[in-house]
Order: sequence, then C-alpha cells, then structure tokens
Amino acid sequence: MPTPESAKMHEITGELREAVFEYARQRLSYAPPPLDNSRPAEELAALAGPTITENGIGGFEALRIFEQVLAPATISTDHPGYLSFIPSAPTEASKLFDLIVSASAIYGGSWLEGAGAVHAENEVLSWFARECGLPDSAGGVFVQGGTIGNLSALVTARENFKNSKKTSGRLAFICSAESHSSLKAAAKVMDVDVLSVPCGEDGKLSGALISENISERDFDRVFAIVATGGTTNFGIVDDIESIASVATSRNIWLHVDGAYGLAAILSVSKRSLFKGVEAANSLIVDPHKWLFAPFDACALIYREPEIARATHSQHGEYLETLTESDDWNPSDYAINLTRRPRGLPLWFSLATHGIHQYRQAIEANCQLAKQAADLILQRPDLELVRHPELSVVVFKKSGWSKNDYEAWSNETLESQTAFVVPSSHRGEVNLRFAIVNPLTDLEKIAEILVSIPRE
Ligand SMILES: *Cc1c(COP(=O)(O)O)cnc(C)c1O
Repeated sequence: MPTPESAKMHEITGELREAVFEYARQRLSYAPPPLDNSRPAEELAALAGPTITENGIGGFEALRIFEQVLAPATISTDHPGYLSFIPSAPTEASKLFDLIVSASAIYGGSWLEGAGAVHAENEVLSWFARECGLPDSAGGVFVQGGTIGNLSALVTARENFKNSKKTSGRLAFICSAESHSSLKAAAKVMDVDVLSVPCGEDGKLSGALISENISERDFDRVFAIVATGGTTNFGIVDDIESIASVATSRNIWLHVDGAYGLAAILSVSKRSLFKGVEAANSLIVDPHKWLFAPFDACALIYREPEIARATHSQHGEYLETLTESDDWNPSDYAINLTRRPRGLPLWFSLATHGIHQYRQAIEANCQLAKQAADLILQRPDLELVRHPELSVVVFKKSGWSKNDYEAWSNETLESQTAFVVPSSHRGEVNLRFAIVNPLTDLEKIAEILVSIPRE
C-alpha cells in the first residue's frame, strides 16, 4: 500500500537515518568533547540562515547547519574543563539509553501505559531512598529538575499542614540564607513567605540557629523546614540531624534539598555528613548533576507518597481509568502529567556498572576538590575562601577586580582550556570549581591555576 501523502514525513531515507546515527556516534566517541562557546544572536542568525520554511530545507542541510553552526555555539557541559555552575557528566551507558528512550514513544505518566518503564524507574528511586535510610514504603517520581522537585515537595508539605493545623496568617517555610534560588521561586509561585535563617561561620544551618532566629509566632505558620544537602555555591551540607530534631519535635515537614550534593551520601567518606536525612518527609537529588545521567532529571522521593498523591493527582473525565485504579502513576507525585520516563538512562547505567562505581566516582571528585584546594593554598596570591566539604572549591585572586576576573574567564574559554565563570559571595567576586566529572583531573586543575598570572 502506498504511503499516504500525510504520512510521508513519518518516513525518512535510510541515508539520512545513517547520517544522524553517525553524528550521534561521533558525539558519543569524543574524548573529550569540544568545549565550544556561545555566539551573539545576530551572528548565529546570519550563519544558520532561515531553517523553518514552508517546504523544509531537508534533513541533510538541517544536520549540516547543526553540526557546523549550532553545535559549535553550544557549550558541552561534560567537557572536563567545564567547572562553572554545576556541570554534568553522563556516563556513556546513560547517554546511549537516552537514545533508546527517544527512539521509543513510551509514556512515563501512568502504570497502565508505562508499567515496564515505571518499574525500572521505581527500582532506582527505592534504592536511593534506602541509601538515605527511608522506609521501604518511600517512593516518588523523576521530574524535570530540582526546581520542580522542590516546588512539588513544598506544595505537598503545605497540603499536609492545611489538613492538620489551623492558622489564619500567611504560611511560610524555613530555609538557610545559603539555600538555592529555586526555593524563593517556589515561594513566589505558592505565594508563601520564606523565613531565611543566616548560617553560622561554617556556612551551615542548624537546629539551634533555627530556634534562635524564629519566633514562636512564626513557628505557628511554618509548614516546612528545608535543609540543604550541599549548597550550590560552596557544597556545604547543613546540620541535617539537628534541623531534623527541631522539625520532628514541632511536627513540621522536613524537606532535604540535595539537588547537587545528596549524591555524596554514596561515598563512604562523606556519608556521615548527611546524618538526619533518614528523618526527611521528602528529599530531592538531581541525577543530571552528580549521578552521571543526562539532562534532565531530578529524583523526588517522599517518606509517605500517599500524601503527595492526594496533593498532586489530577482529576478529569479523560483520566478516570487511571485515577480510579490503585496503580502507581508517577504523574500523581509532582506537578506534571505527561512525562518522559527520564529515570531510565540512570537505571540502565546503574544496572550496567553497579552502585560501587558510583561510590568511587563521587569519592574521586571529592578527593580532587581537596587536591585543588591544596594547590590553591600553595599560592600566596590566591585565597581559599572555604575548605571544600564536598566537591566545590571557591577561591579569590588578590588584587583582582570584577573586570580582571571576567577578562581571565573569557580568555580561558576562548582558548578552550576551561569554562570557569566568576561567582560571588557576600558581594565579593570569586572563582569557583564545581567538580562532578570523573574525567576532570589534577592536570586540568593545575593548567587552569597556572593560567592565572601570579602578579
Ligand atoms: C541546582 C540546584 C537546584 C535546582 O535544580 P535544577 O535541576 O537546576 O532545577 C535546587 N537546589 C540546589 C541545592 C541546587 O544545587
């Protein structure tokens, strides 16, 4: 039967398919990938030309434009010299499996449609919950990122609060002054207050600091306390145990934001930093940050998932088949309905390599951070701002202005050595290495440090 005209675009030629696979193969085999660099909008528009046209420009031409113009203008976050923000370093196994997820139109929102995929995702979530000491009944869902994970958990916490306590004032949650910007974003969406508590000299929030800084009147309107398991700026882990005891004694929901750092609970030497996490009512960790999985994935886990289900389950005539069953539907546990089974790349890589490899890789990143700090301490012109607790190293160059930092950063990217953008703390500019890539080595760190002129 001839293909109808309307289905023509659902077939492509074998050559184009091969060309796409070949390019994917090439990208997978880069060691290291090109760092690349962004370009101004006008320059890209001129170089790429119009690509969306009534009759299409053809797959080969679109692929050529991507390969020659667009990809070189897109930084590879897994280059070993990419140390800004929080980089990513997906394993090859996880990248390959992401291809499979893309090649299959599978739906991860419900058990009815996605049972097999959801089973595998849930096995990963249960394993991580166990690592954190949560009960077997814990469960959750892989959402797009930590921002959605934090928001979904906080909405669940608020719902739980409304069901059990009465208060007339504005609701609020407590977090540390060093916590991530996504918490303020969540407060804005939820129209609640943030009670931000200053950290101690060590950069940690503790139960004592919360008790000192929050009045009894304010405690009455607090529906959650957020502990950060590895701050983004410094990689410092709050004193979760003492925070947990305040939360437990006052019957307040404890959420642990471990988007970046909670992965380090897998390392033998860092595990004890996370004491108290077993008391969490909810927690998040981003596999796209430090669990070597591709964008975008945040594991959101609840101690009592049924509270989240009662909060987030969507109801509609078209959904009744799903909501009236007792099946585990991932969509019920966060602000989402249609979802990619984005936990599968991590599942495949974990299944392939085993947990031990993950423990080792994270341990090695922390070791490297310590070695980088030692190199910085040897340089009289550099100042280590704080000893690294996990894998973030922050330091300053004496005498440098903001412009000096920026000029050096631009040159370092221009020369394709590294991507290290200036950061700041309490108004002072600094440089920051976030190390989550096992291919980043001491040689790369030394190369970057040497490129900072001693005078
Ligand atoms: C990165 C980060 C987030 C936000 O996660 P996204 O995946 O970028 O949305 C939240 N909290 C902390 C501590 C983070 O480091």
